[in-house]
Amino acid sequence: MTPQEIEIGFVDDRIDEIKMNDLDADLYCLHVKTEMAPRAYELADQLRAAGKTVILGGLHVTYRPEEAKQHADVVFIGDAEGIWQQMLSDYEAGSLKPFYRREQPVDMSEVPIPERSIYDAYSYSNPCNYLQVSRGCVLNCAGCPIPFAYGKRIRFRPLELVEQELCHFPSPTIYITDDNMFFTGDSYAPYTDDLLRLLARFEKPSSWASAIGLPRRYDDAFMRLAKEAKVHSIYNVLYDSLSNRAIAGDPKALDRFREIYDRYGEAGIQIWMSVYVGTDEHDHGIADKVLSFLQKVDAQLVEFVIPTPFPETPLWHKVIREGRLLHTRWEDYDGLHSVYRPKHFAPEELEELVRGLWTGFYCTHPYIFDRDDVKVLLNS
Ligand code: SF4
Repeated sequence: MTPQEIEIGFVDDRIDEIKMNDLDADLYCLHVKTEMAPRAYELADQLRAAGKTVILGGLHVTYRPEEAKQHADVVFIGDAEGIWQQMLSDYEAGSLKPFYRREQPVDMSEVPIPERSIYDAYSYSNPCNYLQVSRGCVLNCAGCPIPFAYGKRIRFRPLELVEQELCHFPSPTIYITDDNMFFTGDSYAPYTDDLLRLLARFEKPSSWASAIGLPRRYDDAFMRLAKEAKVHSIYNVLYDSLSNRAIAGDPKALDRFREIYDRYGEAGIQIWMSVYVGTDEHDHGIADKVLSFLQKVDAQLVEFVIPTPFPETPLWHKVIREGRLLHTRWEDYDGLHSVYRPKHFAPEELEELVRGLWTGFYCTHPYIFDRDDVKVLLNS
């Protein structure tokens, strides 16, 4: 997005040591996720105190622009493509606006190929690079901010552009960040199939992010395509009704769950499970049910998450309506803290229960942390 005559760089606060005295750029753009917002605001404040111009963008500031503006010269709301260049011109002219927001979501054919030379994948324990082929989502899962931030229809990137991007892909492994490819059913099947055919030509292993719910596609033809594309893992959030019934011990739901997971296993695709614990349906028996379920499906890689009401999501509005939101200390919106009052637990009880699940599961699977695909997950 940035013209070539402007020098750019990238720093990751999670792995790089940031020394304020060494920073000599004119403009700083910080990407803000909710649980990282306090740290981003702290850095932004320090940069501005040092006389730098600070821009904030990302999901969190898209739903909290006024809050973010207290720490920034400029806040980008939603897609930045197409208005980033305008902001740079305004900066040069000394006429920056406080907020930049597109009238319409960007057409994905206008999204340029990211400048990956500034991102050193090899700084991470398992080098992989990230590919995004769509934005927006037709679903409206309880805790997900994507539909609010990027719209309720999926905008696909033309595959010719994805192909151009893959031609210069710098790392051996691709992490595909899109949530919807395996999950939103037949209407998007042709695009997903063509994407898999394209990936097969590049012969790079890939991991996929996923939506809430089990993969809807697992017929022979689809599994063959996924295998030929070298898809080696997908990340699956178990928050849907079938998963909940399977965890609760419903034999029919468990059989169906196993059938789908077995199909993926036969194709050599590992499913990373993300299990939400502490929903309104869960009581104190949930920990035993979850561990028993994981044993029955021979789960290898699992995370345990407390539902988090990110601002403007359906869950956010529900817990506010019911007077259950406890606070907005954003650093606790990390899936390990109970930031709204659960129905059947004290908040501290739920946090303790989830810590117990992490240790209970991984003390029987300690070898997992040596695996390369696990390192990719931990990176991401
Ligand atoms: S969690 Fe995934 S499937 Fe659900 S709304 Fe968000 S992007 Fe869509």
